[in-house]
Amino acid sequence: MNEPVQPARGVLLIVCGPSGVGKSSLCDRLLAESPRLKLSISVTTRAPRGAERDGVHYHFVDRESFERRASEGEFAEHAVVHGNCYGTLRASVEAVLSAGDDMLFDIDYQGARQLKAAFPQARGVLLLPPSMAVLERRLRDRETDSEAAILRRLAAARHELSQFESFDYAIVNDDIERAYDDLKAVYRGLRLAVDYQRPLLRRLLSP
Ligand code: 5GP
Repeated sequence: MNEPVQPARGVLLIVCGPSGVGKSSLCDRLLAESPRLKLSISVTTRAPRGAERDGVHYHFVDRESFERRASEGEFAEHAVVHGNCYGTLRASVEAVLSAGDDMLFDIDYQGARQLKAAFPQARGVLLLPPSMAVLERRLRDRETDSEAAILRRLAAARHELSQFESFDYAIVNDDIERAYDDLKAVYRGLRLAVDYQRPLLRRLLSP
């Protein structure tokens, strides 16, 4: 007899994209409109910026603590991004899945690759600017970075976008409303997969 197929637990949605592409606004909106979608709060060695709070935006730790946790296998993925360490706690993913919820990951392409290896149901969305010229203009319009930092971010963006084969979906953020509709469509599409609908189908077919 075949083993009964276990229902896949929640949807794991990874959203990546270069700085200036509008990732935070799209993710914030999807989270606000999707009660069962929980944001993964990463651990980082970078210092808090502006109004960022520990445990809300990130878990801020020092390098020694980060390295200890990494060596103890606490991270489902971890990577160095712009010189700082970032990691996703395996236990937080497990806790969200056990509660029957879905999880959104705002991580870089290196993390996306590792997370998909650790959790095969994870799916990755790469957000694209309409063109590199538009991305450059958006970075310049923010007026937060020096010329050198803008050039570094543009080079990093080009590199991140060149990793597109590691992703399942690509969404162009030309118009924010349209990009948001696309992101929502991906999430809804994932939720409709038969893997997640097995309990419903079983109930429907039970005598
Ligand atoms: P920021 O320091 O500006 O908040 O984030 C810098 C970059 O690090 C962003 O591209 C963000 O997606 C990425 N990042 C944030 N958390 C994680 C994480 O846990 N793992 C990985 N691999 N990247 C992360």
